[in-house]
Amino acid sequence: MTLPPEEIQERMIRLKETLKRAGVKLTHQRLEVFREVAASKDHPDAENIYLGVRARVPTISLDTVYRTLGLLRDLGVVAALGPPRERVRYDGNVAAHHHFVCLECGAILDFECEAFDRLTIPAAVKHWGEIEKVQIEVRGRCHACARGNPQTK
Ligand SMILES: [Zn+2]
Ligand SMILES: [Zn+2]
Repeated sequence: MTLPPEEIQERMIRLKETLKRAGVKLTHQRLEVFREVAASKDHPDAENIYLGVRARVPTISLDTVYRTLGLLRDLGVVAALGPPRERVRYDGNVAAHHHFVCLECGAILDFECEAFDRLTIPAAVKHWGEIEKVQIEVRGRCHACARGNPQTK
């Protein structure tokens, strides 16, 4: 699934502004790696991002994609999901939102919910550390999987 062109465009503009502010050079490869994440609603992992970018930039290496994703993450223009040791997936949507995760096909869908944004964090959690963001993960089985024909990615 891809985003509407005008929303991709907005994200590209934000990337350019962020890189400029951080004094980071906007290379063709960085732009294309970001475009791949920014245009996708699928929360792709590094390997799928690599396959997508390689179609447009045949010379790019998987290693470059990993390093670029790390950079984009440090700059806050993409978000990484899940603990670092698992196969990390990336999200071009850095605005407040939550996820529906299909336990069967692994689809991750974005949704917005003001009530979830306003959840009170239990005091115990605040004892463990500083909170950066709260993102709710609703787990289940998507309709395609429930019908027995999972979406192939
Ligand atoms: Zn599914
Ligand atoms: Zn998301």
